[in-house]
Amino acid sequence: MAVVRVKMLAGNWKMNKLNSDLEPFFSAFMQSAGLVSSADLAGRLDLLFAVPATLLARAVEICRPLGIRVAAQNVHWEASGAYTGETSLPMLRELGVSAALIGHSERRQYFAESDTSVASKTTACLRDGVLPLVCVGETLDERQKGMTAEVITRQVLSILAAVGTLPKDLVIAYEPVWAIGTGMTATAAQAQEVHALIRSLVAAQLGIPVAAGLRILYGGSANPINIAELLQQNDIDGALVGGVSLKPEEFAKMVRSAL
Ligand code: PEP
Repeated sequence: MAVVRVKMLAGNWKMNKLNSDLEPFFSAFMQSAGLVSSADLAGRLDLLFAVPATLLARAVEICRPLGIRVAAQNVHWEASGAYTGETSLPMLRELGVSAALIGHSERRQYFAESDTSVASKTTACLRDGVLPLVCVGETLDERQKGMTAEVITRQVLSILAAVGTLPKDLVIAYEPVWAIGTGMTATAAQAQEVHALIRSLVAAQLGIPVAAGLRILYGGSANPINIAELLQQNDIDGALVGGVSLKPEEFAKMVRSAL
């Protein structure tokens, strides 16, 4: 029997918005998306917002009754300790946060996240039952040098090697760095090619059933116009959306398209 992968749209608000923005945002978003209650999403689409740390508590209060998940944008792999400025998984779980972005390219680029720290954070999430959305992607220079497959393989294998016998409840987001925030979306064919590679790597390392159930999101200037074609690809199971997810009416258009 074919495995059904429920599509996922995940917004990444990066370092934007205040607590006072939350209620107006979600009210406009739900209305524009034509969503009334969590029943409108259940089993059809997983919706998630990765919000700044200061918004997590209030976002969970607002989103939980709507059936929308709230994610952190980063985590530390230790449960507690002398790590000034960091947030641990027990701290997130206490707030009702059930997912986390790991290894976003902005964290790799500006905060020296490495394949090693990404793997540690991913396994900590899997151990704690917090869904990791692990980001991988090549730079423009790497793509132009024909190194896309090599870079993606290195990044994905380093995550999979760490997963070992832990639960396999993770999401991988393919985000070509050159497409993030630039308006230069990968074509559906370019994205599908990399998604298929990621799924084949997962099949080889963790087995075909895990690969068949794994959701792989595309991220990089996804928008209401290109989302439909992206979602038609066999191995594209949703999108991680930055800029457009800040605009309730625009993001709602993507939700309507996905539904
Ligand atoms: C992102 O931040 O993960 C992202 C994909 O941003 P954008 O949609 O703005 O390119």
